[in-house]
Amino acid sequence: MKKKLVLIGNGMAGVWAVEQLLKLAPNQYEVTVFGSEPHPNYNRILLSSVLAGDAKIDDIVINDWNWYKENGVTLHAGHTVTKIDTERKSVSTASGITAEYDDLIIATGSLPFMLPLPGADKEGVIAFRDINDCNTMIETAKNYKKAIVIGGGLLGLEAARGLLNLNMDVSVVHIFKDLMERQLDQTASQMLRKELEKQGMNFLLEKNTDSILGKKRVTGVKFKDGSVVDADLVVMAVGIKPNVQLAKDSGLEVNRGIVVNDYLETSIPHVYSVGECAEHRGIAYGLVAPLYEQGNELAKRLAGVPSAGYQGSVVSTKLKVSGVDVFSAGQFTDAEDTASVRVQDDFEGVYKKVVIKDGKVIGAVLFGDTSDGSRLFKMIREGEDVTGKEKQILLGEGSGGGAKSGVDYVASMADSEIVCGCNGVSKGTILNAISEKGCTSVNEIKACTKASGSCGGCKPLVADLLALALGADGVQTVKEGICGCTEHSRDEVVEAIRSMRLTSSKEVMNVLEWKTEEGCSKCRPALNYYLGMAWPEEHEEERESRFVNERNHANIQKDGTYSVVPRIYGGVTSPAELKRIAEVAEKFDVPMVKFTGGQRLDLLGVKKEDLPKMWAELDMPSGYAYGKALRTVKTCVGSTFCRFGTQDSIQMGIDLEKRFERLNTPAKVKLAVSGCPRNCAESTIKDFGVIAIDGGWELYVGGNGGVKVRASELLCKVKTEEEVQEWAGAFLQYYREAAKWNERTSEWVSRVGLESIKEALASEEERKALNERIDKTLSLTTDPWKEIIEKDELRATFEELQAPALETVAD
Ligand SMILES: Cc1cc2nc3c(=O)[nH]c(=O)nc-3n(C[C@H](O)[C@H](O)[C@H](O)COP(=O)(O)OP(=O)(O)OC[C@H]3O[C@@H](n4cnc5c(N)ncnc54)[C@H](O)[C@@H]3O)c2cc1C
Ligand code: SF4
Ligand code: SF4
Repeated sequence: MKKKLVLIGNGMAGVWAVEQLLKLAPNQYEVTVFGSEPHPNYNRILLSSVLAGDAKIDDIVINDWNWYKENGVTLHAGHTVTKIDTERKSVSTASGITAEYDDLIIATGSLPFMLPLPGADKEGVIAFRDINDCNTMIETAKNYKKAIVIGGGLLGLEAARGLLNLNMDVSVVHIFKDLMERQLDQTASQMLRKELEKQGMNFLLEKNTDSILGKKRVTGVKFKDGSVVDADLVVMAVGIKPNVQLAKDSGLEVNRGIVVNDYLETSIPHVYSVGECAEHRGIAYGLVAPLYEQGNELAKRLAGVPSAGYQGSVVSTKLKVSGVDVFSAGQFTDAEDTASVRVQDDFEGVYKKVVIKDGKVIGAVLFGDTSDGSRLFKMIREGEDVTGKEKQILLGEGSGGGAKSGVDYVASMADSEIVCGCNGVSKGTILNAISEKGCTSVNEIKACTKASGSCGGCKPLVADLLALALGADGVQTVKEGICGCTEHSRDEVVEAIRSMRLTSSKEVMNVLEWKTEEGCSKCRPALNYYLGMAWPEEHEEERESRFVNERNHANIQKDGTYSVVPRIYGGVTSPAELKRIAEVAEKFDVPMVKFTGGQRLDLLGVKKEDLPKMWAELDMPSGYAYGKALRTVKTCVGSTFCRFGTQDSIQMGIDLEKRFERLNTPAKVKLAVSGCPRNCAESTIKDFGVIAIDGGWELYVGGNGGVKVRASELLCKVKTEEEVQEWAGAFLQYYREAAKWNERTSEWVSRVGLESIKEALASEEERKALNERIDKTLSLTTDPWKEIIEKDELRATFEELQAPALETVAD
C-alpha cells in the first residue's frame, strides 16, 4: 500500500519537491496538496511580467489542473490548513477537510510585510505577492492615476515598472539613499536610478513614511518630515516574513522560519519543510533557486536516495524590468581584505564589478550587460581560484586569456549543473531537449524545458548550449527585440522605418507598439541613429536621445570638467595652429595639454562654461572625440619623408578624414593609413586600415585595438587613390546601413563574416550607389561646435546642462 504524503502550500517550492519525488519514486506515495489560493501552482516570479503586460495569468501556470489528475495528486485549491495534529498525523482545514499523513511537507511560503502605519488598512493599500494583488493593481489602474510604491528593492521596482506600463504616475518611496541597496553598490544603484527616471519613475529617497491618508480609500501618504504626496494606490513592497504561524501553533521549532536540518526535517518526526517558510542554518531564503535545491534534497530524502543533504545556497538576483539589465551575486561590497576589478562604460551604460578575496571571486555586480552573470555566479559558487588572472575575469581573452568564451564555458559544465536557477533546469535537460526534441532556438528550449522563461538571466547560457550542441550554423536566429521595450529586432525596426517612411522615434514607438512610452537608454539612441541613417534629410536629430558627451560635444572627465579635442587632419598641424592652441590653453587655464593615441591634442580639465568660448577662439572643427562617429585617421609619414614609404600616406589620411569627418556611424570608427607594410600607423587594428604596397594599396577592415583586440582582415587590394576612396565610402556606408547600433566594425565583421561583406561590395554599381548615399549624408552635416557658437538657443541649453561626474574615453 502507498504511504500518504500531504503538502501544505501549493506554491513553487512545495510542488517542485513533489515533482522531483514523483520522478524518483512514482509509486511510493499517495499525494494530497492543500493550497489557500484558488489556482493551480503558478510561477510567482512572473507576476511582475503579468503586471507589466508581458504575460497573462494562464501563461504563468507551472502545473495546470490536468497535471494533478495525471499524476494522481489530490488538490484542495482554495482551502487553508488551519490545524496540524502531529500526534494523530493529520491536517484539517477550516472548511472541514481532513487528511491523514505518513509524511507531511509544510511549504507555506512567506507573507508580505505590511508596515504597521496608521491608515494602512485603507482600501487601495496592498502588497505585491499573489495573483489577487496583481489583479487589484490592474483594476485600480483603470480608474485611478497616482500610485506610490513603498520600497525601492527588487519587488518594489518591478511593481513600479508594471504600474507605469498601466499608465499610472508612479513614485517609489525608499528609506535609504540607494535603490536595491542590498543587491547593488552605489555606482550601479545610481545608474539604475537614472535609467528608471528616464523610464518615467519618480523617486522619493531617504523618506520615512508616517501614515496613510484618506477616509475609506487612500488619498495620500504623509512622511515623517511633514510632506504629503497624493496617492490613489499604495503598494507596500518592503519585505517578506516567513509564514510560520501554523507551524508554531503545531509545536514545531520556529525561529524566523521553521527550523530544518540538512534533510529538511523539522523538530517533529515525519514533518518536513521547504521554501521561504523554512530556516536552514539560520537562513530563510527569499528567492526561488535555493528553494528548488531544497526541494531536490527533500525528494531524495523521501524517496530513500542517499545524499549529502542540503548545504545552503549562494544566491544571485536579476531585476526583471524591461530595458534595464541588473545582476548581483554574493558579497559585492568592498572591505579591507578584498580587491575588486571594475569596468565602467558610460557611453553604453555598462558597469561591471567583481570582488575578489584570497584569490577567489566572492561577489559581482553587473549593470547594463549581464551576459557574464552566469559565469561569474558559477565562479562564486565554486570558489574557483583566479589568482593571476583577476583582470581577465571581466576583460576577456583579448586581454591575455583567462576568461573562457561562452561556448567553452558551457562545454566545461557538468550535465547535472543548473543553467536556469528560476526553473531548476540543468545543462543535461537542455541538451536533451536539443538532441531528443529537436529544439533549435532559445524560445523552443523555453517552451520545452521552461529554461530562461522567468527572469531571463540564463538566456546567454542557453544560447551557448545551442551553439555547443548544434554549431553556430544550426542555431535558429532567435528573434530578440532591440531592447526590453519591443519584440522587434533591429532588422524589423529598420525595415519599418524605411517602408513606412517613419522619421521620428515617437512614430516608430507608436507604429511598432512599443511597450514603454518613452523607450529606454538602449532603444532611444538606437532609433535616433537608424532614423538618421535611413532618412538623413527628413529626420530631425533627437538630441535628448544622445548620451551626455554627444549632447555636449565634449568628453566629461572624472572630475566633471571637459576635454576639448579639435580635429587635426591626418595628425598634421602647423606652427600657427599650435600657437593658437597654446594661446587658448593659456587663456583658459587649461591644466593639461596631451597628445592622444590618435595623433591630436587634447585640452583637458576645461570648465563647462568655457567650452563655447574656447571653441570660438580655437576656430577649429570638432574632433568628435566623444561620439559614435569618425574619430581619427592616423597616418605615418609615408613617402613624403620616410625612406621606406611607397605612397603618400599623409595626404591619403588627410583626404579620408576631410571626406568622412562628422559621419555618424553605429559605433565609433577609426581609420589609419600606413605608407608601407611596416605599418607604423597600426592600420591592422583599425575599423578601416589602409597600407601602401608597391603600385597600390591594401584595404583592411574590422580591426580593433580596444578592450577586445582584433586584427583586421584584408578586404581587397586596389591601385589608385580614387579606388581607396571608393572602397572606403562603400564599406563605411554598408556598415552604417547593415550593422546594429553600438556594434563596432570588429563585432559586425565577426558576426556577418568578411565574405558576405566582400560579396555585398563586389559590384562597382553597388559601390557607386553606396558612395552616393554616404556623400549625400555627409553633405548635410555641419560642425557642431560652430553651430553652438552661432546659435543662442543652443548655447543657452548648453550652459544649463549639469555635468555629472562621469569618466569617459577620449580619442
Ligand atoms: C512579484 C514577485 C516577483 C518575484 N521575482 C523573483 C525573481 O525574479 N527571482 C526569484 O528567485 N524569486 C522571485 N520571487 C520570489 C519567489 O516567487 C519566491 O521565492 C517563491 O515563490 C517562494 O516559493 P514558496 O513555495 O516557498 O512560497 P509560495 O510560492 O508563496 O507558496 C506558498 C503557498 O502556500 C500557500 N499557503 C500558505 N499557508 C497555507 C495554508 N495554511 N494552507 C494552504 N496553503 C497555504 C500560499 O497561499 C501560497 O500559495 C518573486 C516574488 C514575487 C511576489
Ligand atoms: S609604415 Fe612604412 S612608410 Fe610609414 S613610417 Fe613606417 S616605415 Fe615609413
Ligand atoms: S584613456 Fe586610458 S584610462 Fe581612459 S579609458 Fe582610455 S585607456 Fe582607459
